[in-house]
Amino acid sequence: MSSDAHWAPLPPFSTGIRGRCPRCGQGHLFKGFLTLRPNCEVCGLDYSFADPADGPAFFVICFACVPSVALAVWIEVAFQPPFWVHLLTSLPFMLLTCIPPLRPLKGWLVASQYFYKAEQGKIDRQPPG
Ligand SMILES: [Zn+2]
Repeated sequence: MSSDAHWAPLPPFSTGIRGRCPRCGQGHLFKGFLTLRPNCEVCGLDYSFADPADGPAFFVICFACVPSVALAVWIEVAFQPPFWVHLLTSLPFMLLTCIPPLRPLKGWLVASQYFYKAEQGKIDRQPPG
């Protein structure tokens, strides 16, 4: 069950955002909120290839954190509200836009690594002669 030849390629976006195995689309990718399982419980794919590093955090910072902080600054500058208004507006908005996207983004990046066979760069040295 370790050969990729038995498995039709699955689109990384649909398997990744659902947190499913990038090879079979059935098994689970995560064992916690963001912790990857060691392998797929259905097809046995070893997830040791997966290393999205800071990728999910980068996308969340760019597309959720910065707009959230901009909203909080705009509320502060435009209305100069008491502190508790930020607790009811800025903080929940920031948490809701920054935390939930992490898991589907990580799943999508891991599935894309598998799909495009992305791995650490190596120098391919030919023997002389
Ligand atoms: Zn699988």
